[in-house]
Amino acid sequence: MQINVAYLYPGLLNIYGDRGNVLAFSQRCFWRDIKVNISEVELGDKIDPEFYDFYFIGGGQDQQQIAVSEELQKQKPLFAEAAKNGAVFLAICGGYQLLGHYYKPHKGEELRGISILDAYTIAGHNRYIGNVTIETNLPLENANTLVGFENHSGLTYLEEGTEAIGRVVIGNGNNGEDKLEGARKQNVFGTYLHGSFLPKNPHFTDYLIQLCLERNYSRVKLAEINDKLEWAAHKKAVKRKY
Ligand code: GLN
Repeated sequence: MQINVAYLYPGLLNIYGDRGNVLAFSQRCFWRDIKVNISEVELGDKIDPEFYDFYFIGGGQDQQQIAVSEELQKQKPLFAEAAKNGAVFLAICGGYQLLGHYYKPHKGEELRGISILDAYTIAGHNRYIGNVTIETNLPLENANTLVGFENHSGLTYLEEGTEAIGRVVIGNGNNGEDKLEGARKQNVFGTYLHGSFLPKNPHFTDYLIQLCLERNYSRVKLAEINDKLEWAAHKKAVKRKY
């Protein structure tokens, strides 16, 4: 079996080691003999919505988001086609903000998003920095918690048609007000959780792998692997404040 991955704009959006998400995803595939082709997509590279199963975009500061926002707009119809056809997206923080309708930073113009999530973001006056634990209703194996680290001033609000990936137990999440964190529409996922996110959430990583495989293969059961370390890291981080 094979999964084709588009790693979007790693030269610009890769704050807090978000590359670790692509490493964790591909390693958990490798341990199960699932072939993973990773294409690093930079400014000017065209995406092929027929080819890619999984799109990853990391976080970054407002400056880098400006360049990526302009690039995403050029390929907005292709990303919309990919999302409509069930491709899996994982977007972290600054990348997450750009999958919604817009991100309005403190200074300068509103950055347009590609609207594959029904959400919008406005820069707030506080910077939310710290550990986050959320409880999720996603159909994950072994645990209903997800952990990570947030660092954002953006406040994200979800609209009808897009649900959160979980409720905040520790930390702030989307906006520090509605106790919601992240967003999901079809197989498009966004979250404020850096860390990087996937290594300490093996159950969510496997869920994404499963969604990718189900696009091209009948329901597969992922082989068990020795991930004691990952689970020890997850359990250590659950409900951790400092
Ligand atoms: N610049 C955005 C914000 O501060 C995203 C930051 C990030 O990706 N960590 O909200």
